[in-house]
Amino acid sequence: MTALRTRAVHAGREDLTDLGVHAVPLDLSTTYPSRDSADEARRIDEFAAGAVAPGMPVYGRIGNPTVERFEKALAELEGCAEAVAFASGMAAVSACLLSSVAQGKRHVVAVRPVYGCSDHLLGSGLLGTEVTWTTPEDLAAALRPDTGLVFVETPANPTLREVDIAALAETCGDVPLLVDNTFATPVLQRPVRHGARIVLHSATKFLGGHGDVMGGVVACDAEEAGRLRQIRFATGGVLHPLAGYLLLRGLSTLPLRVGAAAATASVLAERLAAHPAVQAVHYPRLGGPLVAFEVDGDPHALIGAVRLVTPAVSLGSVDTLIQHPASISHRIVDAADRHGAGVTDRLIRMSVGLEDVEDLWYDLDQALKAC
Ligand SMILES: *Cc1c(COP(=O)(O)O)cnc(C)c1O
Repeated sequence: MTALRTRAVHAGREDLTDLGVHAVPLDLSTTYPSRDSADEARRIDEFAAGAVAPGMPVYGRIGNPTVERFEKALAELEGCAEAVAFASGMAAVSACLLSSVAQGKRHVVAVRPVYGCSDHLLGSGLLGTEVTWTTPEDLAAALRPDTGLVFVETPANPTLREVDIAALAETCGDVPLLVDNTFATPVLQRPVRHGARIVLHSATKFLGGHGDVMGGVVACDAEEAGRLRQIRFATGGVLHPLAGYLLLRGLSTLPLRVGAAAATASVLAERLAAHPAVQAVHYPRLGGPLVAFEVDGDPHALIGAVRLVTPAVSLGSVDTLIQHPASISHRIVDAADRHGAGVTDRLIRMSVGLEDVEDLWYDLDQALKAC
């Protein structure tokens, strides 16, 4: 098995030399002509059952060759058999919940905190699921015969709290464990190695990496992937081919971007911990490009005072992004639940980019003085 950096550049592109092209072909077709409609009928039956039939797809909602390259590459980086791409991270979360419901299991057990909209989707029961919120310690007691999914993020958005995936997977037994790996990326953590069955990404973040493409992806075994493709075909949350192209391009630099940003983030986390205007710093044991910290003063004043850092929600871009979870990314979560999960009103989440560390520190230090 070649190294991750090598696979990040070559996965999903193994046939390019034989095709005689260097850049990945971008296929924007919504439909695919065929003079053999009897064969097409057979292929539609296969696609409808969730299979990946060789050859061209029939229709853009069934599959797309450019998107399939991205899926293949991400599956390889996560060490999974297959991956299924969606229009956004939330479309990917929705498909995973629907997959559980489709198997007659409406109960989901989840560990807070999770991304604000995931929290909202689970808590609202919009897709017919019923959630039990629990802690890793109380997981066993929360499982029921109708539990179809255990849902966890690690490091979690926005507190960066980490859970022991292997311990959780063992408690889950036969119940599939879903790990939202958006924050760690396969560069820092491959959850399947520790017993997770389903790995989810908001591809909008580090996989794309430049703040200009929305997407989601689920890496898993062939059985779950088939079900997710059926759901995607029926509900239509497909990834646009151009997004697939950009995400595949993003993967090639993922290890370098995450490595460089993580090195800068660990320096900033140390300096923030020693800053008089900072009460607490949360930096994962795993490392990574995200730093969360609690300010002594007004968090809004800090956000308003940065000049180099971009005051914006989202994360995983080449530039450093800073936001106030209680106001933005986790606004939709009930305040009591938010506070219970450690998302205090003074918490700031920062996604470190590729700028020079001294330039970033200069900006953060002057902004901290303002708050
Ligand atoms: C952003 C995010 C999502 C949702 O992804 P979208 O692409 O915005 O739909 C899900 N999980 C985590 C951890 C996220 O940060």
